[in-house]
Amino acid sequence: MVTEQILGRGIRDKRVLQAIGALPRHLFVPYTKPKDAYRDGPLPIGHGQTISQPFISAYMTTLLAPQASHRVLEIGTGSGYQTALLGMLCRQVHSIEIIAEHYVRARKLLAHLQFKNVHLRLGDGHDGWPEAAPFDGIVVTAAARDKAPARLLDQLVEGGRLVIPIGHALYDQQLVIYTRQKNRLVRKEDLAVRFVPLIYSDQKTLAGE
Ligand code: SAH
Repeated sequence: MVTEQILGRGIRDKRVLQAIGALPRHLFVPYTKPKDAYRDGPLPIGHGQTISQPFISAYMTTLLAPQASHRVLEIGTGSGYQTALLGMLCRQVHSIEIIAEHYVRARKLLAHLQFKNVHLRLGDGHDGWPEAAPFDGIVVTAAARDKAPARLLDQLVEGGRLVIPIGHALYDQQLVIYTRQKNRLVRKEDLAVRFVPLIYSDQKTLAGE
């Protein structure tokens, strides 16, 4: 998986390659046979949500430029896979999930894998995690409709980056990177992507169906 899907598509960050190689992806996909867990595509994790294709998890992680000293925030814990990757690369990870079952499963798995630097919360990620802010990096793993939530941008350190898929339709989304520079936000568009949409708190019952 690492050689063909990640290295083969140009990811060169050694720490990211090492972390992906060391993390057993099959533990994070409850509805997939272990041998299929490493294939090149997203996989179902329940409630209509998916774990991203391995390349996309790796790519978004490199866009954050994670350093061992960093504290980062993830919105959309899902399976906990990207949370674990960030936990291996950064000093501390906070991650928020809106669907209770995903939150509970990820919490059990990450505790089982003995991640001591990962903090999970059940709630709406649009608000961020103000008590733990500011963060060196923020990654959102579900798509916003037209812009990054303002409260998340407020929780970035100077020089910090927020990576988020943005777009109205499933087939019209782009990864966008916001960098906070001297109290200005620099916005840069990157790859075309396909993510499930961010859920708003008042839609939660819909998502649970
Ligand atoms: N990073 C995850 C990707 C999961 S898919 C992984 O590696 O598996 C996106 C996740 O975002 C889903 O679990 C979904 O329930 C969650 N999500 C959607 N809207 C959210 C919101 N407003 N706040 C927090 N989590 C949200």
